[in-house]
Amino acid sequence: MARPLLAAGDAPYRAAQARDWFWRRRVSSFEEMRTLPAATRSRLGSAFRFSTLHVRRRRQADEGLTAKYLFGLEDGRTVETVVMHYPAGAGRRARTTICVSSQVGCPIGCSFCATGQSGFDRNLTEAEIVDQLLEVSRHLTLEQRAVTNVVFMGMGEPLNNYGPVVGAIRRWSRSDTLNFSPRRVTVSTIGLVPFIERLGAEGMPVNLAISLHAPDDALRSRMIPVNRKYSIASVVAAARAHANRTGRRVSYEYVLLAGVNDSLEQARRLTAVVRHPLSHVNLIPMNPIAGSALAPPSRQQALAFQGVLQAAGVSTTIRATRGLDIDAACGQLRAREPAVTAGK
Ligand code: SF4
Repeated sequence: MARPLLAAGDAPYRAAQARDWFWRRRVSSFEEMRTLPAATRSRLGSAFRFSTLHVRRRRQADEGLTAKYLFGLEDGRTVETVVMHYPAGAGRRARTTICVSSQVGCPIGCSFCATGQSGFDRNLTEAEIVDQLLEVSRHLTLEQRAVTNVVFMGMGEPLNNYGPVVGAIRRWSRSDTLNFSPRRVTVSTIGLVPFIERLGAEGMPVNLAISLHAPDDALRSRMIPVNRKYSIASVVAAARAHANRTGRRVSYEYVLLAGVNDSLEQARRLTAVVRHPLSHVNLIPMNPIAGSALAPPSRQQALAFQGVLQAAGVSTTIRATRGLDIDAACGQLRAREPAVTAGK
């Protein structure tokens, strides 16, 4: 913002004021930057778009603890972002996690994922990724809440859109923007090995989550076509190198599908694959997708699967499902909403 302001004869401190309104106070328009002269606000309005996104719809579930935003992009496409509030409890502080998208659709085509089944449209720009956190933060500021964690688990494979994703994480972290630490960001990938290695070399302490979903290559290749290129052994080796380099724990995401990958023998094989001091396994009972024959296992089977991992010393949780009734749970996001009128 500095250049147009200074070029137009504004004092240098005006640029700092504008940045403060934008990033720290998180106002929703140039008009709200009250300490700037009206002429300056008007010049900013003609020189800049305030955001690359606008809210087309916001739906809530779980008694207000989950919200799904449908954002309209400037080319008419849409993208989804999910906000999840976790109240304090059991020695943990309250958290608010935002699940951001990195692409419109996804080119990877995993068999159990609604986004993958809808095809790929385009990559998001760095600004469109940055603005998902900013737009949500603006709304939360009004509720006197703040985002504590960001996960790249929305639409798209983040490492397939590497530059804009890393650029957005860097932008959020700057002291003159949101000052949002990369330690509070998790990048979830299907396992694009060269980009996992590149991410480790960035010197950013981001957390890594690997969408593993199977304990052997034969099954994983059926579920995730890209496994034919990057085997489980190569993905896990890259993830361990990332953990050793950054000191950050790696989460292995494992969607439990009844009769496909949920047997106790498969749990034992999974143990051998992931066992490492900086490993954690997130078991995710599959969320229903319309038209899919796949189903989650019983609660009892999920607990038995978890028991095998825990008995072998592998840190494991079963993820609580969020936002089922608004299709906001993992693997359910897709740009399938019809055109709707704006309505926050
Ligand atoms: S699980 Fe992730 S990588 Fe696979 S299709 Fe869905 S969004 Fe893409």
